This record gives sequence, C-alpha cells and structure tokens, in this order.
Amino acid sequence: MARVAIVTGGTRGIGEAISLALKEQGCTVLANYAGNDAAAQAFTERTGIPSYKWDVGDHEAALAGCGIVEREVGPIDIVVNNAGITRDAVLHKMSWEDWNEVMRINLGGCFNMAKACFPGMRERGWGRIVNIGSINGQAGQYGQVNYAAAKSGIHGFTKALAQEGAKFGVTVNAIAPGYIDTDMVAAVPPPVLEKIVAKIPVGRLGHADEIARGVAFLTSEDGAFITGSTLSINGGQHMY
Ligand code: NDP
Repeated sequence: MARVAIVTGGTRGIGEAISLALKEQGCTVLANYAGNDAAAQAFTERTGIPSYKWDVGDHEAALAGCGIVEREVGPIDIVVNNAGITRDAVLHKMSWEDWNEVMRINLGGCFNMAKACFPGMRERGWGRIVNIGSINGQAGQYGQVNYAAAKSGIHGFTKALAQEGAKFGVTVNAIAPGYIDTDMVAAVPPPVLEKIVAKIPVGRLGHADEIARGVAFLTSEDGAFITGSTLSINGGQHMY
C-alpha cells in the first residue's frame, strides 16, 4: 500500500519539489497551502496532486484539515512540515505581531501537524516526520530574531519528539536548508543576495529538488535508523 504523505506549504517552492519527490517515490501525496489559490490550482493541474487549504498555525484548522485528509485518503504516514514565512526586521523595529506570526506558523505549525498525525503513527507503528528548519536557525541571521528563534526551536522540537517516537517506528528528523532559489529568496534585495552567495563555498544557491531528495531519503524505508537528526543541505555555508 502506498504511504500517505502530507506536505505543508507543498504547492510552491521547496514544498512543491518535496511533493513531487514523494510522489515519484510512490507515496500518495497531498499538498497543503495557506491562501494562494491560483498557485495551488496550477500546481494541482500540473502534478495531479490534490491541494488542501488551511493555516498550519491555526490549531483547530490543522486538526480539522488532517481529519478531512484522513477521511478522504486514509491514515497519514508521512508529514513534512515545510510551511514557513519570514517577517524580517531588526529587533528594535520588529513588531510583536511579526514575532508572533513567525512563531505561530513556523514553529506552532509543526506542533499542530504533529498533534494531528503523530498519535495515529504511534498506534500503527510506522511514521515519518520531517521538519524543515534553516541554516539561519543554526547560525542566526541579522534581522531575523523571530525566524531564527522559530527555526532553532524546530531543531529542539525534532530531537524531543524523536525520543517519543523511536520505540514506535516513528522517526522525526529535520532538514536545515541553506539558501535555495525560491520566491522566499527572490524577495532578498539583490545586493544582499550577492553577498550571501559569495559566502557559499559551492558558489551558488541550492535548488529545491536538492532539499526534496533529502526528504525522500529520510521518509523512505531506508531512513528507519535515522531519527533526531538534522541534515544540513547548504553548499558548505555552515558546517554544523
Ligand atoms: P515559499 O515562500 O516559496 O513557499 C511557502 C509555502 O508555504 C507556500 O506553499 C505557502 O502557501 C505555504 N505557507 C505559508 N504560510 C502557511 C501557513 N500558515 N499554512 C499553510 N501553508 C503556508 O517558501 P520556500 O519554498 O522558500 O520555503 C519552504 C520552507 O523552507 C520554509 O519553511 C522556509 O522557512 C524554509 N527555508 C527556505 C529557504 C530558502 O532559501 N528558500 C532556506 C531555509 C529554509 P501559499 O502558496 O498559499 O502562500
């Protein structure tokens, strides 16, 4: 039986590449998104992967969304917590709302999706959770106390939940991407981006499918002995 996989933020950028990689691996894939209906519809038409709209930072919405998926498709075996946002500003200009929103979606979203799916995985004795962290959660980044804190929190969340899942065949890992050529990075001003690329030893941005292949491996049967790990995929920019 094909494993059922849900990819949050799975309709664009890194998430789209992850959705496609898991489909290629033989999973039944569902992609969640937040609000860009046009992008989600185009993604579904292009790939045949159904898309489901809910805000992963909304606890009740995440529980309800996963409930709908399970009723329509079957128990969720694989969760990829990829949805994430940035609200960058230096601390003295950062609002409470921008702090809170990034924590609510980037970190709270992982909790909400795990609350919805981890108990079933545990009962069935098989599951895979992959949380998408960030190089900036490992190393910090100017103007990103909210994002760096949330992503750093993801790495702690991963190690704690991995301990709870280990005996039950549920692995929990993180991937920490470096700078990847998606819409999120396209929003970085070109002079800043040039400086960032100059610090990447391989001399270029990463591609979304380079992250997706890591997720595919961690969620496969071959990944059974890997849990509580963070896989850094960053072109050598930060060796952690
Ligand atoms: P994009 O901005 O290109 O895409 C983000 C996706 O997440 C979209 O599908 C979006 O949905 C969805 N999303 C955003 N907020 C929510 C929400 N509240 N609920 C559900 N879905 C949501 O991001 P990237 O592909 O660049 O990034 C993906 C992940 O990788 C993020 O967690 C990011 O922090 C992380 N990352 C990215 C790096 C990069 O260089 N790009 C580097 C390191 C980490 P919609 O289309 O509806 O807006």
